[in-house]
Amino acid sequence: VESVVIAGAGQAGLQVAASLRQEGFQGAITLIGDEPGLPYQRPPLSKAYLLGKIGLANMHFRPASFFEEQRVTLLHDSVQAIDRTNRRVTLASGGALDYGHLVLAVGAHNRLLPVPGAELDGVFGVKTLADADALAPRLAHVKNAVVVGAGFIGLEFAAVASALGVHVHVLELGDRPMARAVSKEMSDAFSAAHQSWGVHLDFRQGLTRIDGDNGRVCAVETTDGRRLPADLVVFGIGVIPNVKLAVEAGLDVDNGIKVDANLLTQDPAISAIGDVASFPSHFVERHIRLESVQNAMDQARTVAARLMGKTAPYAALPWFWTDQRDLKLQIVGLNDGYDDTVVLRGKAAYQMTVLCFRRGQLVAVETLNRPADHMVARKLLGRSCQLTPREAGAEGFELKAYEL
Ligand code: FAD
Repeated sequence: VESVVIAGAGQAGLQVAASLRQEGFQGAITLIGDEPGLPYQRPPLSKAYLLGKIGLANMHFRPASFFEEQRVTLLHDSVQAIDRTNRRVTLASGGALDYGHLVLAVGAHNRLLPVPGAELDGVFGVKTLADADALAPRLAHVKNAVVVGAGFIGLEFAAVASALGVHVHVLELGDRPMARAVSKEMSDAFSAAHQSWGVHLDFRQGLTRIDGDNGRVCAVETTDGRRLPADLVVFGIGVIPNVKLAVEAGLDVDNGIKVDANLLTQDPAISAIGDVASFPSHFVERHIRLESVQNAMDQARTVAARLMGKTAPYAALPWFWTDQRDLKLQIVGLNDGYDDTVVLRGKAAYQMTVLCFRRGQLVAVETLNRPADHMVARKLLGRSCQLTPREAGAEGFELKAYEL
């Protein structure tokens, strides 16, 4: 391959460019991103950046000099269409670009609130730097915030806002927080923590509409008919992969752009990675999509290596983290279909490790404020692990000791 064009200059796209150069790729690399400025990390948007603890400079993946030194052409433009026959993408600015290989790293967009009033001033998602920059200054003046969705982003926002003295009310359709990703035991620990911070958690509850006053949000109505005062509404109800380009180019799409174990679409000149890619998981034996920094980076490395002739199926161990005030949750593995857990409690109040088993096999480990256990768990899950629930449940069992 002589030239690589990367659509999307986020976590995955930037990493493909960086890894290609690390691997010694000499050809042209063009990174096309439709957001202004240098490519940046998203995780702080709902955490330290929102809290004002870190600035934008700390969120850039690489300084401006990187692009020059590494001969990576960064275009602020939007890929509009893919002409697979001629291996060419067309851009919103009117230009076109030929590719030897095309990497689709276009991410996902927020699912919007499907209720009247969602367009009012004061209703926010947290996906982009622009979102966080619009949201952060409001926090100083807000009294009541309603959060829709008790997933990672909703809870991270609730942690920040409550720390700033905002009264936060969380509406969640499910019956526990972060239910899609963590065990019941871990959900319970986060419920307790948020309650201790004064966050009101309202489960099995959605909203039917948002009310405005002069175009600005002033209240929401819950599914059971209550009216909650709100001068801010923040929603985190999931994302939709950006598949339009792929669909229009005739590529297979099924909850994301469908790729094979090597992260190739059915077109051998097009790969897809990161939040937008639906790939056959080494761990759960079906196609999945993961929204994590780890997945974006490791998939990028897999594709860069393949383009340099080192083809290997993507089999990286999934891991993830979330920070909410003084709670750091780290997850390794996928707890899909887990049927048994063993909880190891630490000395401090919010210190615990949850081992998740599926049919007797350890499939995921969640650690709360126990980074050492997380590192051990990564090693354990990285090779075939024989630990049984019985062993783990024995009096005095420690993950660290098991590894030795
Ligand atoms: P993105 O980083 O979203 O990049 C895709 C880029 O492509 C975007 O800039 C988009 O605008 C651009 N684009 C889309 N279409 C086009 C087009 N046609 N042409 C050109 N450009 C286009 N993960 C964790 O592991 N831990 C965390 O704590 C964590 N916290 C997060 C907090 C927030 C607020 C958010 C939003 C995400 C968080 N994530 C976290 C998830 C993580 O950031 C994503 O999984 C990761 O950014 C995915 O990388 P990506 O490159 O696939 O997509």
